[in-house]
Amino acid sequence: MTTSPPTTDPAPSAALSGIPARAAGVLTIDLAAIAENYRRLKSAFQQRAVAAVVKADGYGLGAEQVAPALIKAGARSIFVAQLDEALKLRPLLDRCHPAISLYVLNGLMPGAEADYADNTLLPVLNSLGEIEAWSRFARQREKALPAAIHLDSGICRLGLPPDEVARLRAEPARLEGIVPTCILSHLACADVPAHPKNAEQLAALTSALTALPRAPVSFCNSSGIFLGPDYHFDLARPGVALYGVNPTPDAANPMRPVVRLQAKILQVRAIDAPQTVGYGATHRATGPARIATVAAGYADGYLRSISSRGHAWVAGHRVPVVGRVSMDLLALDVTGVPPEKVQPGHWAELVNAEQDVDALAAEAGTIGYEILTSLGARYHRVYLD
Ligand SMILES: *Cc1c(COP(=O)(O)O)cnc(C)c1O
Repeated sequence: MTTSPPTTDPAPSAALSGIPARAAGVLTIDLAAIAENYRRLKSAFQQRAVAAVVKADGYGLGAEQVAPALIKAGARSIFVAQLDEALKLRPLLDRCHPAISLYVLNGLMPGAEADYADNTLLPVLNSLGEIEAWSRFARQREKALPAAIHLDSGICRLGLPPDEVARLRAEPARLEGIVPTCILSHLACADVPAHPKNAEQLAALTSALTALPRAPVSFCNSSGIFLGPDYHFDLARPGVALYGVNPTPDAANPMRPVVRLQAKILQVRAIDAPQTVGYGATHRATGPARIATVAAGYADGYLRSISSRGHAWVAGHRVPVVGRVSMDLLALDVTGVPPEKVQPGHWAELVNAEQDVDALAAEAGTIGYEILTSLGARYHRVYLD
């Protein structure tokens, strides 16, 4: 945490302060920006309670670093997807704050009930079957056990579908031994505010809630927060917006950028027609050109779909990716960059102020979520706080 970020020097040299010479790529993660994004979401959520989703290793950015930053910013509920993720994080969260609710979105794994109870993990009960198992376990332990209950309001993924909600309404004793700390539901189209599904889900949730005991209600992911107060209820569960991805894809990004990604230039060579670059010989020089070979590839989450369509930045110039992205390497056409500014050991910028995660995702034909969660393990990571 003490290393400084790579410089923004227009002609970055090989020796960046604090970055070991062996580093082939540098992933800089701005924890202060994550904390600021938490506060911005809280403000958009009218200062009500805002949890933090840190599943998939904090969307690829390191749950062990981002969760403490989010707790420091005020988060008291943390969501992960899998039981194993929760078991790994629990001791760390306890050291950060004595009362963090840690939820497991993927629910109760039958047979693993004791893992949740013994580690004060809150399963998100996703079906009547899971409710039955948790209730039975609570009776065995002769102890009321907390959990979230997930109502499916229309995404048809996890959560109690309408027929199970109806059975729960008819037989409230099914919840015996369970203390619902939260009732949640998940939006399918929150990033498309005009989508009719949003209002349909809101109506379905509102009606389903009458079948359950009163508990704080959680409906909004990142984009849901921006659908306005009708959708807010009590607790928001943002993930991706905390990490700088735009939760309002049709409008300017209200979040601060969090990620910067640089990879080292290994070689620069002059080519000429009819030479070709990379696997499949998909890029053919039409005249004299200079090609920089850069140390990042699809094994680092620089997706192969970026081949021949993406861009990077070298010494302040926007340069195209040419030919196929391979496992460990990509190629840039740097013909337009003065030769002294593009040398082995200099850095190519893959994500920076000019090209954010959303822009790179668009070039890859995917979404920012996938770019972040694909970032490989080989980058030298720098955390700014
Ligand atoms: C991943 C997830 C979230 C967070 O969604 P973002 O779009 O990243 O804000 C919230 N709730 C559930 C159930 C999820 O699976």
